[in-house]
Amino acid sequence: MSDAAPLSASAPAQAPLTIRMHVRDNVAIVANDGGLPPGSILPSGLVLRDRVPQGHKVALVDLAAQAPVLRYGIPIGYALQEIPAGSWVHERLLQMPDARGLDNLPIATVKPEPLPPLEGYSFEGFRNADGSVGTRNILAITQTVQCVAGVTDFAVQRIKAELLPKFPNVDDVVALEHGYGCGVAIDAPDAIIPIRTLRNISLNPNFGGEVMVVSLGCEKLQPERLLPPGSIPLIDERNVADVGNTAEAKLDVVCLQDDAHVGFMSMVESIMRQAEEHLERLNARQRETVPASELVVGVQCGGSDAFSGVTANPAVGFCTDLLVRAGASVMFSETTEVRDGIDQLTSRASTPEVAAAMIKEMAWYDAYLQRGQVDRSANTTPGNKKGGLSNIVEKAMGSIVKSGSVPITGVLAPGEKLKQKGLTYAATPASDFICGTLQLAAGMNLHVFTTGRGTPYGLAQVPVIKVATRSDLARRWHDLMDVNAGTIADGSCSIEDVGWELFQLMLDVASGRKKTWAEHWKLHNALVLFNPAPVT
Ligand code: CA
Repeated sequence: MSDAAPLSASAPAQAPLTIRMHVRDNVAIVANDGGLPPGSILPSGLVLRDRVPQGHKVALVDLAAQAPVLRYGIPIGYALQEIPAGSWVHERLLQMPDARGLDNLPIATVKPEPLPPLEGYSFEGFRNADGSVGTRNILAITQTVQCVAGVTDFAVQRIKAELLPKFPNVDDVVALEHGYGCGVAIDAPDAIIPIRTLRNISLNPNFGGEVMVVSLGCEKLQPERLLPPGSIPLIDERNVADVGNTAEAKLDVVCLQDDAHVGFMSMVESIMRQAEEHLERLNARQRETVPASELVVGVQCGGSDAFSGVTANPAVGFCTDLLVRAGASVMFSETTEVRDGIDQLTSRASTPEVAAAMIKEMAWYDAYLQRGQVDRSANTTPGNKKGGLSNIVEKAMGSIVKSGSVPITGVLAPGEKLKQKGLTYAATPASDFICGTLQLAAGMNLHVFTTGRGTPYGLAQVPVIKVATRSDLARRWHDLMDVNAGTIADGSCSIEDVGWELFQLMLDVASGRKKTWAEHWKLHNALVLFNPAPVT
């Protein structure tokens, strides 16, 4: 983390304030709300030649044409022309470096000093039959196909109004709606990704193993293909399959095309009848004290700006180290946003096997993008650029710090279920909804999301703690942002302060003692499946 700590952020808030990330850097970003006008004198005596917006870069020295522009100690681009000291270094002045090749990478070369274990932290969670722990108690209704979404939603509204009040220990009823299931090339090799994603989401620890499925009947993704025998954990004798095989859990399916249904209400009542059985069992779940090691945290960012890598993401990275020290599981993701730091990741891999798995995921993604005739530079958005991020290299350097400093001990392909503690690279696209959906499938029970431009992102399935990168955003979105990491930029808090605040908040939110703002307002984004396979 030492490389990511701001080196100079101690001036009073009103005075011109810039933040440089590394001793080698020849640019710094302007921290002041509203930016700085030309003629502003920096503490070093440098006079600004241009107006520089907040989060944007100023040249600290004269840069010759073709000179590397260094932020985070690495070239984020090369000057397309001479840039005098004090100038605004905007994206149009930079040529982006090529992506680092995947050959000859440093493999498991960094061996960080083991951090002392963090003991004595716990939360109140719902222990499941398979040993996992939920942070919420939710009935999730799995769907095999989009065709049934309207009927399921109608039933869910009635379940919430008529049944849920009878089961006070159950937090919510959620339909797992998605666009997959029919009109897809279901035998294409890559179809395994959306299928296992749906399967593993159904098994998320927040749903207590109470899997129920609504199917149309004629769809390509048949219930038995989605949840084959053995995929649903046995809870107890109540969900044993009635087929003479006592080791197998019953797959509970309501099929709308079943001959037994006459009229729409028959379907709705069938869903409600099945839901009530699951609600009764879920209602019997009680929170119990469990160690912090039962947290499974997915971290991601969205609507990033130049502060993301200065404030919120380093604080999340510090918290990642705390969680791993406490024995918990942390996943970081977003392939295009870490691709440019692949050498940092492979060198931090705990073993050559972990590094090789990471390289395999990156190579797969490079090929996937190439098939669509783009590369990782398609990632940055107009908002990223307005927030001061010139290109994906600069964005990636800020994104990667969410992973903290501990060794990377695991790698997951998209849609796979996490089975180990420690820090895992869960390969996903950077798209907020797709990344969140895949981290849900991996089994996260808590989500941390950093944002600089601002997004009201939330999920119905798991609490989402949102961290603002700037105090200005935290002030304006005071009832949407859960943590303000902007205090790091104005010098009133340290990265460690905010990291600990986040850690404590995680335990409170996981325990249900506190709700996130997204939960308070019920802000729920759609599940979006990653389907790299063809549709028909
Ligand atoms: Ca994202």
